[in-house]
Amino acid sequence: MGFAGGLLGLGAVATTANATTVSSKIQTAKVESVQTYKATKYYTKFNLTTGNVYTSRYLKNYSHNLANYPNTTWYSTEKTTLLKTNGKKAEYRYIYNANKSVKGWVWWQNLQTKPAPKVKTQYLLVMGHGAGDAGARGNGTTEATYLRNKMLPKLKKYAAEVSNVKITFYNPSHDIVKDTLTYHKGSYDINKKTKVIMFHLDAAGGHGGHVIIHSKTPTARDRRLASVIKKYIGLNPAYQGYSFRTNLNNCNVLRKRGIDYSLIETAFIDNKSDFTKLNKHLDQIAKGYIEAIADRQIK
Ligand SMILES: [Zn+2]
Repeated sequence: MGFAGGLLGLGAVATTANATTVSSKIQTAKVESVQTYKATKYYTKFNLTTGNVYTSRYLKNYSHNLANYPNTTWYSTEKTTLLKTNGKKAEYRYIYNANKSVKGWVWWQNLQTKPAPKVKTQYLLVMGHGAGDAGARGNGTTEATYLRNKMLPKLKKYAAEVSNVKITFYNPSHDIVKDTLTYHKGSYDINKKTKVIMFHLDAAGGHGGHVIIHSKTPTARDRRLASVIKKYIGLNPAYQGYSFRTNLNNCNVLRKRGIDYSLIETAFIDNKSDFTKLNKHLDQIAKGYIEAIADRQIK
């Protein structure tokens, strides 16, 4: 999904019927069983962020990303159990859309039997820095790299587990601050009803995390987010959970536009103890953040 798609991905997703075909790394070693059935309706799993549509049950090539079709009604007539070249068994279903412009084989877990829910609340999750800005450094990594390579996949995994809010992700190859302040895009392009959560890591003398909030008192969501930090990392003693700041220019654009946001400083990237806790609990932290955002428990 391109830059515009990343921002407008809130419903207005471009569909390319003439997608190019890409070779896959893990393929089918053996087709164990095939079952056909009467055409049955399926829908793309809600909040799905990735999912190959393979051109055949041998999984050699894929031509579409299922996540680009969040509102499509699919028809399925066949399923198969495969042994893959990575040694794992998996079930795949053959699907096609109404005019058959998109068709192929998808992992069954990327489908659901009910249509996407009509949700009012939309969230945009943003990994800080990027596009040449490394952000803070420490413990052999950078803020931009850690957020994109470690935190983002976990957040995506748990985002797909909630159905009461729509969660999208800002294009990770972009830096929202640069987009906003240099190109007058970024935070200027975000729909006013969308809520924005920005992810960062702190550095340079200190430990613990906190939430930068958009008004003087934290919202219920800010409190839920801070409790995740408190549980797994500990709070930065300088803030005790929250910091109300008006000197962050990108945040000020959101505030002036009336957009609800939180900016999470999870931990100090250059603090050894913080970094150890961050790595150890990353999965639970990401789960906690998505639960805090959606205000729902994930099983
Ligand atoms: Zn940062």
